[in-house]
Amino acid sequence: MSHYNWCHNPDCHTIETQSRVRGSGDNKVLRTVKIALNPYRQDSIWAYFCNQNCLHQFLNKFAREVANLNPTPKPKETPIKVKKEKYESYRYNWNSNERQPYMATRTTIVSGNNE
Ligand SMILES: [Zn+2]
Repeated sequence: MSHYNWCHNPDCHTIETQSRVRGSGDNKVLRTVKIALNPYRQDSIWAYFCNQNCLHQFLNKFAREVANLNPTPKPKETPIKVKKEKYESYRYNWNSNERQPYMATRTTIVSGNNE
């Protein structure tokens, strides 16, 4: 069981930072970043990408493949109940320079997916 992953951005090793430099003398290379897995990281996207730049390079390069992992040909819907209520509010009249009352409508979702 390994306790690290290599960054999954296929171009991670081409990004020029001191932290990626490995090797000695004239045999230096830029190497893919090694990601130490810890309890905070291991179940998140950061177990696979060393930073946001690498994550977004990956997503841009493989956007179609990522989308095809979960094809979404039509929208989904969540049944809800809404409550509409009227209440008195105010709006500013810039001509008369005063607040004017009016009846506003507030729509509240009272139950959704996890009622
Ligand atoms: Zn990376």
